[in-house]
Amino acid sequence: MKCPLCNGELLEYVGNLPFGSNMLGEISVPGIAYSTCSRCEDITIGYDESGKITDYIREEERRALNEVPIGEFVSLNEAANLLEMTKQAFNKKPRIQRGFVYAVSLGGRKYYHRASVLMFKENGKDGRLLLTKKKEISTEAIAPVVCPVFMFPSNTYGPGYREGSESWSSSNGGHFRS
Ligand SMILES: [Zn+2]
Repeated sequence: MKCPLCNGELLEYVGNLPFGSNMLGEISVPGIAYSTCSRCEDITIGYDESGKITDYIREEERRALNEVPIGEFVSLNEAANLLEMTKQAFNKKPRIQRGFVYAVSLGGRKYYHRASVLMFKENGKDGRLLLTKKKEISTEAIAPVVCPVFMFPSNTYGPGYREGSESWSSSNGGHFRS
């Protein structure tokens, strides 16, 4: 396979790639098929991978939110009060329905993350704050080597990148598929 940008050789891997999460910051998603160009270092995510990435991040966020102490959440009543609207109006807000205010379900009821509600109130559209008690991603699912950072324009490299070399070897995280 040749790189569509520069016609360089594409090297294919399956490994971890970091992605951004509003809630968790940078999150390493394992088992992603991707290729990287040996010349221009452009990274291409495999054709079917985007759903897998979204699901993984959503699940990690759900787990992290469930570990936040319940005392940091408020009832629907209180959340609506904080936004100075009725419960009905609160529930009808499309952005709230879509998760722009963090919520957990407990005993069939929804509770809203207080700081997230307040942030939503402040900027009027997005309460997805970075959770400070960031949950560490379980290490067993992650190969020992960090892969090149994806989606970050600074283009930093993990320890698998060999200085002075223009390619990643099969020993640096992904399994080289010839
Ligand atoms: Zn290229």
